[in-house]
Amino acid sequence: MLIGVLKEQNFNRVSITPGVAKKLAPMGLTKWVEAGAGEKSGYTDKSYEDSDFKPSSREEILTQADIIVSIEPISNEEMAKMKKGSLYISMFAPYQDTEVVPNLAKFPIHVVSMDMIPRTTLAQSMDVLSSMASLAGYKAVLKAADYYNNMFPMMMTAAGTIAPARVMVLGAGVAGLQAIATARKLGAIVEAFDTRTAAREEVKSLGANFVEVEGATDDKGAGGYAVQQSEEYLSRQRALVQEKALKSNIIIATAQVRGRKAPVLVSEDTINNMKPGSVIVDLAASTGGNCAYTENNKIIVRNGVTIIGDSNLSDDIGGVASNLFANNIVNFLQIVVKDGVMNLDENNEIIKSALISKAN
Ligand code: NAD
Repeated sequence: MLIGVLKEQNFNRVSITPGVAKKLAPMGLTKWVEAGAGEKSGYTDKSYEDSDFKPSSREEILTQADIIVSIEPISNEEMAKMKKGSLYISMFAPYQDTEVVPNLAKFPIHVVSMDMIPRTTLAQSMDVLSSMASLAGYKAVLKAADYYNNMFPMMMTAAGTIAPARVMVLGAGVAGLQAIATARKLGAIVEAFDTRTAAREEVKSLGANFVEVEGATDDKGAGGYAVQQSEEYLSRQRALVQEKALKSNIIIATAQVRGRKAPVLVSEDTINNMKPGSVIVDLAASTGGNCAYTENNKIIVRNGVTIIGDSNLSDDIGGVASNLFANNIVNFLQIVVKDGVMNLDENNEIIKSALISKAN
């Protein structure tokens, strides 16, 4: 059985790194990688060859592999080239686009979308959303520090005392908690909002202040995800965010509701009244953003406040992000491929959730 790793067209990352070869070997897989696939994340063709991957052309992989992996989905034209009954693993975010599944049904291939892996303890090692969110939370703070014209830690110098930065984190999920931890390590004073009550203790344990807006709808049956809040709740939350934002230097915005537009928590009025020099990093940018002025994949300045809209910050640290992604993929393959045979057993809850289209 042949596995092929495609080169990403728009990312620095690569979906499978040479380091996971040892874990792939017992599965009985022959390994091909598109030439140059790891270049931007620091993995040379030579390093793949040393780990028994054969650098190949995109065409060879598309037409001959039994399992194909990429982070960003390939086009319909390329999927049409894949072998009947082969498995394609990528990230389709079908919860954001109702056209995805009907479109995939046109192809005689199996499709696994890694963003559909359930958020359960058993599936944790395959959870690409968590791996990437964690790195994005870390990188968001470093990016903010880079654009901020002041510094994070308190410092006493002969020329005067520097006050610590005040950081507000909106959404204390995987990315938010990592952002809190990173900002605290850099010496900032941190506070965070979340609608899920479970987040309170996690925020506090990282040494940040948890800001609560009473009356949030919290659904434990939502698979760990937040649910949409009422407009009345969001408007009370915006008022409290404004009060806190006026004292903040940095906002890391990560609040999302799966399958819906992100809640706007930082209003135009808030930004127009924030301290010039402040920085907002909006990780929810791809789903509309938590900030009224956010533009996805753009850095804009309003009232002297820099607003960075970027939901893909793990891509800025492509080396480690590729490695974690690769581990997630291999952990998934371990439940699907044994002794060179693929078995997409839908009695397994993880496979059932992630398999969004089947060859027919
Ligand atoms: P996410 O990216 O969908 O959302 C980020 C955060 O925004 C969430 O914490 C959410 O509660 C919060 N949010 C939504 N609306 C908000 C609002 N109006 N104000 C403030 N915050 C708001 O979520 P995520 O980070 O991918 O995961 C959320 C949770 O899922 C985790 O914290 C965890 O409890 C659970 N989870 C479990 C596992 C597992 O068990 N394997 C893995 C990953 C995540």
